[in-house]
Amino acid sequence: MRTPEDYALLSVEQARQRVLDSIAPLPIVEAPLLAALDRVLGETVCASFDVPPHDNSAMDGYAVRHADLALGIQLPVAGAVAAGHPWVAPVKPGHALRIMTGAQMPPGADTVVRFEHTTACGAADAAAVRIDRVPRAGENVRQAGEDVRAGQQVLMAGALLRPQEIGMLASLGRTSIRVYRRPRVAVLSTGDEVVAAGQPLLPGQIYDINSYTVAAQIMRAGGDPLLLEPVPDRQDHLTARLHRAMQQSDLIITSGGVSVGDFDLVKQVLVAEGRMDFWWVNMKPGKPLAFGHLGGVPLLALPGNPVAAMLSFHLFGRPAIHKLRGLSNIDEPVICAQLADTIERKDGRRHYLRVWLEEREGQTVAHLTGDQGSGILSSLTRGQGVAVIPESCDHLPAGSTVKVLLLD
Ligand code: AMP
Ligand code: MG
Repeated sequence: MRTPEDYALLSVEQARQRVLDSIAPLPIVEAPLLAALDRVLGETVCASFDVPPHDNSAMDGYAVRHADLALGIQLPVAGAVAAGHPWVAPVKPGHALRIMTGAQMPPGADTVVRFEHTTACGAADAAAVRIDRVPRAGENVRQAGEDVRAGQQVLMAGALLRPQEIGMLASLGRTSIRVYRRPRVAVLSTGDEVVAAGQPLLPGQIYDINSYTVAAQIMRAGGDPLLLEPVPDRQDHLTARLHRAMQQSDLIITSGGVSVGDFDLVKQVLVAEGRMDFWWVNMKPGKPLAFGHLGGVPLLALPGNPVAAMLSFHLFGRPAIHKLRGLSNIDEPVICAQLADTIERKDGRRHYLRVWLEEREGQTVAHLTGDQGSGILSSLTRGQGVAVIPESCDHLPAGSTVKVLLLD
């Protein structure tokens, strides 16, 4: 067995870059508009017409010619126009037309006086309206194309489709849209001691946590998890299970069995069956990380301790899924906060400390959630994220500003 020193020690950024460099976005498919929510746009969308398509009233009121207006003047009312029923005859000089919000502006009129700024006068069949406040020329009129102009680039390929982008596509009359295929991600826990929930727990066994945390994180990252049964630490079983995973997924994520223990076999299988890079990542928790390809499918092997697995997924698995799903902006939700505790340590690794956040006098304050062991999952359930302690800091006094990655 090679010793840990035989393997490269990488920074988090180097490891992340190596993962991203070897992953390509998935193919683009056509999806019905609503099914495209939370997916990533696979085409750049240009408007083929103005939005709104016509000048229309922004208020319920009277469409008029601005040149006719003066305070207290009375204008005869020529009729009423509702949204969706264009009025084709021009508004004659010195006349007003009742108009409802969203109705197309009639020819001739350039301004709308809202009802609240008028007084109705005269009988219904010979109605007139008195102007109590004179608006600016063009006031209360929405111009054709004021939202989007014909020919304008509206959405770029690689953009995440949120409800507002779905609405924008609807405003252009789209019923379907080209998006990247969603990644199917196989999740495989390893370990003789690890058993799936629903089975009795025998002496020495623990329930499988990582399949569930990682699957939930995959869902949050925009992928579809495929949960496989935990596999024991046997090379033949592991090989068979990984081959099955390879045929069914765009990415495989394993947990456990990737360190230098006697029964840590994931690396052996990757070397025998595919291509492997193994690194020590200069971070805590979560030092060992294997990445490679099996039959062309990328495989990310996370450490087994539940906190280390979650954090490593966040740092390396999440961006991998974002790249697969075509996102052009692979971001990391991060805020700045003040440490409530003093941090001392001396190992030169980047530490990720579990914290809960409090708003105090306009500042976000980060408190340690307690025991920081990499198997203490409650250190994460008690908090909202992890404070990043840079490699170079041996001593950080309380009150120091740190980055906090949000793991909500
Ligand atoms: P390993 O990386 O396989 O040596 O595992 C490190 C630690 O994480 C051991 O204490 C394992 O029992 C634990 N562990 C590994 N996989 C899981 C899992 N899926 N759920 C909960 N704990 C796990
Ligand atoms: Mg193990």
